[in-house]
Amino acid sequence: MDLIKPIARFIFNPLLALKNRSTDFKFLAESERNQYLPREGLRRFQLERLKTLLRHAGANCPFYAKRFAEAGFDPNSVSSLEDIQRLPLLTKADIQKNRDGMTAQNIPESERIPNKTGGSTGSPLQFFMSPDSVYRRIANTIRHDRWAGLEPYDKGAAIWGHQRDLNAPRSSMDRIRDSFFSRRIVLDTSDITQKKLAHFVELLNTEKPSTYVAYANSVYLLARFIKERGLTGYHQPRSVITSAEVLTDEQRAVLEDVFGCPVFNRYGCREFSVIASECEAHAGLHMAADTLLVEVVRNDRICRPGELGQLVITDLHNLAMPFIRYRIEDMGVLLDTECSCGRTLPMMNIVGGRVTDFLVTPEGSVVSGAAMTIYFIARVPGIVQAQLVQKEKDYLLLRLAVDDRFGEESKRMIAESVNRFFGPAMRWDIERVDSIPVEASGKYRFSISELDPVEHLK
Ligand SMILES: [Zn+2]
Repeated sequence: MDLIKPIARFIFNPLLALKNRSTDFKFLAESERNQYLPREGLRRFQLERLKTLLRHAGANCPFYAKRFAEAGFDPNSVSSLEDIQRLPLLTKADIQKNRDGMTAQNIPESERIPNKTGGSTGSPLQFFMSPDSVYRRIANTIRHDRWAGLEPYDKGAAIWGHQRDLNAPRSSMDRIRDSFFSRRIVLDTSDITQKKLAHFVELLNTEKPSTYVAYANSVYLLARFIKERGLTGYHQPRSVITSAEVLTDEQRAVLEDVFGCPVFNRYGCREFSVIASECEAHAGLHMAADTLLVEVVRNDRICRPGELGQLVITDLHNLAMPFIRYRIEDMGVLLDTECSCGRTLPMMNIVGGRVTDFLVTPEGSVVSGAAMTIYFIARVPGIVQAQLVQKEKDYLLLRLAVDDRFGEESKRMIAESVNRFFGPAMRWDIERVDSIPVEASGKYRFSISELDPVEHLK
């Protein structure tokens, strides 16, 4: 077995490729150290970064200069983390309207790395990151992967549905991520048939990846397939990391039973990468508090630990386009517990979280709500928000909030993609709405299935 090759290829080469300055190794080491910082030391670290961020935003981002002035906020007067509470919350609409004003004028374009969300909460966001913040995110992802026993040079399997996204222009962030995770085999679950699931089982048996990193619903469908077929002798990984979708207790139990390994729930998003992850104690999620300041807010009031509210996040390191008090449209609670694992990164729980149901085609394939989100929202001109409601196996209602770019071409693209994803037997209607209402959880749902997709698999 050739050990040097994977080490060279998957550790040193990506780091060299990323190398602008000799900071990359420092971030990996710093990230590892930060998880054991004493609480007071962590708060001091956050405060120093926050002061730098606020002074920088006030001096170089016209949007924040105006916002600070209107709030009577002097970034030079900040002396505690709580001072940030004097600033208003940043909404998705603020970012969509003020991308230029939020972008730091003193950072050259060549040092701004573009990124965008897939629009899983209804409408896409385009934003920039500074290289250092990208390296820190990668370092933190590696740190959190290690909690689940996944090392950067291990072979992992990504089980999720975004294959159609590959046709879209790829961001620098994607390419950087790919160079790191090229040992990862990808099982595309954007539409699933029993045949495809059988193929996945075979592929996993051959490749034997150490960890599955998966959309909760995708890996759950795979586990149910294995269980209901009564398969034996299939590959069992060391761990399963679930993210992007809500993981229910029932799903966790089925995954642990079928794969015979622990499940590590994770909460993250495109805007911030990993926000919080479970460690081996499985007693809540440790926040990446060395890169992010997470607040929980309810009716403009800061919640106590244990109290449910909306998550509000400040990225402490992204100077290219600062996100300060961003209301991310997820619900959660902060915990004031200390974890038995010894890590001091503070804890939270995600409640409700993002919901992307699977949809089913008349022929019995399953289509991922997340893939549809990316496909619809990112591509069709004029769609501001969209929600697909599957009422029957062969009937979809498309609720659309549109702007004045929406026209005949948009309708043609919708017809084409419904046909492509669901086949010609799918009937559908458009319902125009002013906006898509949020759920009780505070989230937009891109798709709502009133069917049990598993029962409808062919
Ligand atoms: Zn822990």
